[in-house]
Amino acid sequence: MRKALSLLGATGSIGQSTLTIVAQFPELFTVSALAAHTRVELLADQIKRFRPQLAVVADKVHARRLEELLPGGLPTEVLYGEDGYQMAAALEGVDMVVGAMVGAAGLKPTLAAIAAGKDIALANKETLVMAGEVVMGQVAAKGVRLLPVDSEHSAIFQSLVGHRREDLAKVLLTASGGPFRTRRAESFDTIQPADALKHPNWSMGSKITIDSATLMNKGLEVIEAMWLFGVTAEQIEVVVHPESIVHSMVAYRDGSVIGQMGVPDMKGAIAYALAYPERLILEQPLPDFTGIGALTFETPDIGRFPCLRLAFDAVSTGGTMTAVLNAANEMAVTAFMNEQIGFTQIPRVIEAVMAAHAVRYHADIDDIIAADGWAREEAARLVAQL
Ligand code: NAD
Ligand code: MG
Repeated sequence: MRKALSLLGATGSIGQSTLTIVAQFPELFTVSALAAHTRVELLADQIKRFRPQLAVVADKVHARRLEELLPGGLPTEVLYGEDGYQMAAALEGVDMVVGAMVGAAGLKPTLAAIAAGKDIALANKETLVMAGEVVMGQVAAKGVRLLPVDSEHSAIFQSLVGHRREDLAKVLLTASGGPFRTRRAESFDTIQPADALKHPNWSMGSKITIDSATLMNKGLEVIEAMWLFGVTAEQIEVVVHPESIVHSMVAYRDGSVIGQMGVPDMKGAIAYALAYPERLILEQPLPDFTGIGALTFETPDIGRFPCLRLAFDAVSTGGTMTAVLNAANEMAVTAFMNEQIGFTQIPRVIEAVMAAHAVRYHADIDDIIAADGWAREEAARLVAQL
C-alpha cells in the first residue's frame, strides 16, 4: 500500500527535496496535503503535479491567489491559516506528516499530527527546541513514530539501529563550521547577510543558513538530539568537520564509534525517514573518498561563535529557556537579514533576552507559547534600541 503524506513546508528546501523523492517513487508514496506560507506560484505547480486533497497557505489573500492559479478539475480544497495547517497535519487517511516548515510555526501542526496518531518525519527542529518534553511525551503516549530528517540526527538514528541503548556512551554531533569557520573574529562586524547566506557545503533555506553561520544551528541540534535520543547535553560533543561527509557518530561504552557517511545532500536523510526501515534506490553518488583525501575534525570555537554556548546555557537552565532561545534567535536572524542589526549583535540580542526571562518549569504548551511571544516582543524592543 502506498504511504499517504501530508507535507508541511512544501515550497521550502526540504519540501522540494521531499517531492523530488515522492516523484521518483510513485509506487510508494502519494501526497494528500501540501502546505506552504506565501509562495503560491510554486505551490500551484506542485498541486498540479501531485493532486493533493488539501492545500494550505498563510492567509485568505494567498488562498484566493492560489485558487486563481489552479485549473478546474483538481481534487484540491484550499484552506488557510493556523487552523488550516493543523487540518493538513491531522487529515484523515494520511499515514505520515513531513514537518518541513521553518521556525516556531511548526509546533502546533506537529502536535496536531501526533494527536491524530500520524507518524512524523521531522525536519522542523525548532519544534523540539521549544517543546521537546511535551512533544516526546505525546509521541510516547500516542505510540507514533517520530523519525528525524535533520542529517545529523538521521546519522545518529542510523548509528543506533541494531545496538542496545544502554551501551551508548556519547553522541558526536558533527558541524561543517559554516562559512566563517576560519574567519578572524575582528572582521565579524563587517559580515553582510549575503556573506552569511553562502554556505560552503549545503544548500538550504535562509534561516537555517544564517543559523549555520552563527553555529546556532548546531546549538539547536544539540537540544534536538537530547529529546530525540534521550541523552544529556554532557553526552553530546560537537565536532567541527568541514568536509560534511561524516554526518554524525555514536560512541559506545566499549570505545567503538559508529557513524554514518554520505555526500552532503538532504535527500538521503529524507528518503530514510520516508521509507524507514527500507532504503530506497537513490541515484546518489558515494563520497569521493580518495578525491577528498582527508577527513578533518576540530573543536568548535565558542569564543567566535557564542550562539553555541547560549544553546548550552539554555539547556542547563531548562524549562521555557530553550523556547526563549529559539524565539530570540528567530527575531535576531530576521533583523540581521533585514540589515537592522549586525552579525555579532545576533548573540547579543539572544543573550539579553535570555537574561531578562523569568523561567517556567514543567511548562505546558500554553506556557511555552507565552514564553515564545514574550521573547519575540523583548527581542523586537532590543533590536529597535540598537
Ligand atoms: P525554507 O525556508 O526553505 O522553507 C520553509 C518552508 O516553510 C516553506 O515551504 C515556507 O512556505 C514554510 N513556512 C515558512 N514560514 C511559515 C509559517 N509561518 N507558517 C507556515 N509555513 C511556513 O526552509 P528549509 O531549509 O526547508 O528548512 C525547513 C526546516 O527544516 C527548518 O526547521 C530547518 O531547520 C530544517 N532543516 C533544513 C535542512 C535543509 O537542508 N534545508 C536541513 C536540516 C533541517
Ligand atoms: Mg543538520
